[in-house]
Amino acid sequence: MASESVKVVVRCRPMNQRERELNCQPVVTVDSARGQCFIQNPGAANEPPKQFTFDGAYYMDHFTEQIYNEIAYPLVEGVTEGYNGTIFAYGQTGSGKSFTMQGLPDPSSQRGIIPRAFEHVFESVQLKEHPEKGVYVKGLSMHTVHNVAQCEHIMETGWKSRSVGYTLMNKDSSRSHSIFTISIEIYAVDERGKDHLRAGKLNLVDLAGSERQSKTGATGERLREATKINLSLSALGNVISALVDGRCKHIPYRDSKLTRLLQDSLGGNTKTLMVACLSPADNNYDETLSTLRYANRAK
Ligand code: ADP
Repeated sequence: MASESVKVVVRCRPMNQRERELNCQPVVTVDSARGQCFIQNPGAANEPPKQFTFDGAYYMDHFTEQIYNEIAYPLVEGVTEGYNGTIFAYGQTGSGKSFTMQGLPDPSSQRGIIPRAFEHVFESVQLKEHPEKGVYVKGLSMHTVHNVAQCEHIMETGWKSRSVGYTLMNKDSSRSHSIFTISIEIYAVDERGKDHLRAGKLNLVDLAGSERQSKTGATGERLREATKINLSLSALGNVISALVDGRCKHIPYRDSKLTRLLQDSLGGNTKTLMVACLSPADNNYDETLSTLRYANRAK
């Protein structure tokens, strides 16, 4: 079922210093056991909070480790078995996308999904690599990487870059999408000595900030760029909701570069996970609600 291959979780970060200084009030609450997220309109205190249900809902006190183990682990495990997988972080700038994808080295419970996936892939590929039993791993070529720190981290974790090729595109700021792809090819030799190739691809995507551009005061080139970002995010939303719907014959991959690029990693037997990142603060109410609506459409 298409809908089972797309999972959506939300993660609400703690209040940041600026929000505390501004004496912001939290408007987001979560019922993790039920995967529910509630948002209260600060301008309408007597209205009941709006309620959304997802495959998981994480709050300020949850660590990336838990999110990985509960939601990302099975997807990455599938990749080591030859399936494709795509993990997105979506949300306005400052909502915790990079925190979730790249994370902090310390404490280790807050290490990001990318380094965890990397380690996971290597561990399981190693585990499965028994040359004497006829299984071995063939390396792929390497591509451009922008962002030395991350690259170094990859090199460290991925010691010897045996089975993994990677690309890191457009990592600059929240004004661009960052797509990190790990491709794995596993050759298994059957009893008759014949090679069988299993290829899995994992895309780890830190999307550009989803905030509406009216809010950022961008002009000129920046505004054009920002408008493209908003268009690509809505194209992505359309593709995912068409996939989830399952009845659509036409999946609008061609509507943006982002969806064209990810075409072979969205749909089919690809597993997709979206982590929608939220600020708890009342002054982000509009953006947070729009993130929740976007996430809700994707499931
Ligand atoms: P984005 O990538 O969405 O622009 P960041 O991931 O850079 O946002 O997060 C903005 C700030 O909030 C960073 O200082 C980050 O460390 C902090 N932060 C985000 N999520 C969390 C969290 N779950 N727990 C603690 N701090 C967080």
